[in-house]
Amino acid sequence: MMLATGLLCSCQKTPKYASYDDYPIYDGSDLELTYTPEASTFKVWAPTASEVKLLLYEDGSEDGASRVLNMKRSEKGTWKLHIKEDLEGKFYTFQVKVNERWLDETPGMWVKATGVNGKRAAIIDMSKTNPAGWEMDVRPPLKDEADIILYEVHVRDFSMSPNSGIKNKGKFLAFTEHGTKNTMGQATGIDHLKELGITHVHLLPSFDFASIDETKPNDNQYNWGYDPLNYNVPEGSYSTNPYDPAVRIKEFKQMVQALHQSGIRVVMDVVYNHTFIGENSHLNLLVPGYFYRMKPDGSWSNASGCGNETASERAMMRKFIVESVVYWATEYHIDGFRFDLMGVHDIETMNAVRLALDKVDPSICIYGEGWTAGPSVFPEEKRALKKNAKQLDGIAVFSDDIRDALKGSWQHPEIPGFVSGVDSLEESVKFGVVGSIQHSQIDYSRLIYSKEPYVNDPTQVISYVSCHDDLCLADKLRSSKPAGATDEEILRFDKLAQTIVFTSQGIPFIYAGEELFRTKKGVHNSYQSPDSINQINWDNKTVFQDLFEYYRGLISMRKAHPAFRLGTQKNVQQYLHFLDMKTPNVVAFTLTDNAKGDTWRNILVIYNGNRKSVMVEIPEGEWNLVCNDGKINLTGIAQVKTTAFVVAPSSASILYQL
Ligand code: CA
Repeated sequence: MMLATGLLCSCQKTPKYASYDDYPIYDGSDLELTYTPEASTFKVWAPTASEVKLLLYEDGSEDGASRVLNMKRSEKGTWKLHIKEDLEGKFYTFQVKVNERWLDETPGMWVKATGVNGKRAAIIDMSKTNPAGWEMDVRPPLKDEADIILYEVHVRDFSMSPNSGIKNKGKFLAFTEHGTKNTMGQATGIDHLKELGITHVHLLPSFDFASIDETKPNDNQYNWGYDPLNYNVPEGSYSTNPYDPAVRIKEFKQMVQALHQSGIRVVMDVVYNHTFIGENSHLNLLVPGYFYRMKPDGSWSNASGCGNETASERAMMRKFIVESVVYWATEYHIDGFRFDLMGVHDIETMNAVRLALDKVDPSICIYGEGWTAGPSVFPEEKRALKKNAKQLDGIAVFSDDIRDALKGSWQHPEIPGFVSGVDSLEESVKFGVVGSIQHSQIDYSRLIYSKEPYVNDPTQVISYVSCHDDLCLADKLRSSKPAGATDEEILRFDKLAQTIVFTSQGIPFIYAGEELFRTKKGVHNSYQSPDSINQINWDNKTVFQDLFEYYRGLISMRKAHPAFRLGTQKNVQQYLHFLDMKTPNVVAFTLTDNAKGDTWRNILVIYNGNRKSVMVEIPEGEWNLVCNDGKINLTGIAQVKTTAFVVAPSSASILYQL
């Protein structure tokens, strides 16, 4: 023992670094596995390891390793092994020894294919995962960022209901089925999306997450998926065979291809801000501590509210995030990314993501939550928070300002908002209309949250009234309804809220099923609620046909009229002017002079949040009424010649002059 210790070569010692900044940085793009039929090269970044092993398996989850091989220390903190064999079909893990202790096996963090439940990495030929015609797949045209209309949907919610008429329930393939109908014969699924007219489907987490046991597909497990396991692998439970590593990859691509063929772009919800577990995550088993932020006392910083937070400011974590989104954008043709708790990440990383995606295609959109779920040890001024959004050009943040002005506080289900008759929220609604920019007619001191403009242009803001978090719109409107409000009135509140979203200058976003008056039966955090709570009830398309037609009308009006998509702060300041309203709980504005080339010369939009009709003094002239009392008809509902115009209770009126 004594002699052996003296003979330890340097390669067996755990290198010590004074700080994470001193760790060597590997800048190659071949980490972990490079496969060809002739050979496989394994290269793992583990600078603090004293030994690293590669374990090869015949199966993705069963049986012991068929071979255990030692890796050799290589350049810049990496360990390497080259095997001159065709290893296609095999599985592998790495095992790292740090501080004289062998850590648990990990499939690595750059892993692109796995066996069931993502425990072992798989060696596959990625070119064999492409569906027929994949090389012809192109992103649907998108002229301008301001043209985007987002539709947020969970893979399972989309198709699980028996009345979806969809065969591949809960699967990626559900998005490939055309001709599906509800019980009453109306279009569901992808045909419904086309009919509605949205431009982008935003998928809730669809990378490999941990909370669903993929070996039990018939157990009706449900989770939103904010528990990342393998960032660069699709979720197995959404595939028809999670055991075969190629199947989930191919089916994900088939989904993207089908949506693209229907003219719809695809956004992925990405959750790089934390991992499902900390200590034994696939990241931490490679380089303990490096990928996470710790408090001075050595405990885990927890801005994610999930027990840990990643350290995007460290070179190799930043490299990982940037290369991961580029990978999804190129291998899977993904058209946009929604960053969960973006406020955890540092500004520099988010700008690096923008730069990298610009090189792939500048029309790829990026947006995120400009907040965290808890305090972080990393300085606020360096993080991608809403209040720092001016430093995030080309990246949008969700506007909780417009959201809660319209429907009331997310934290208090019983508190109503502007659309349910609350006055004093007019300035916040106006702030929402302009897209959180500087506008001379807004009194910023009277806003509910932010007290100043926080973006450079309105396309840096996502306008919405609800999403998967908290009560969905119909449930919130019910739980906060004023005394005596009828079901008919709640539908009015709903239409008014969405009219404001779609006539505002930020990028509109709706939560799937809102157009069918979706309810989650009052469950505000349905992240693991059963399908009976979460699934879209497609028969409601028929029950709430009028509401669906209204949403469709809003979308087609926005698409036909660039005045609602001015794009820049300068345009909005030039063309959008608010009218002085004498009645509380009313907001009105004009879009003038064929704004941004609009065929309508002047547009007048009036929102009446009062539960009674109000008389509004409007500019003189002949007006054509296209939206009134819960109906939209772009060819015209009536001609208006009076300056004393009456807006129906809880509704919007939109008029134009040629
Ligand atoms: Ca999984």
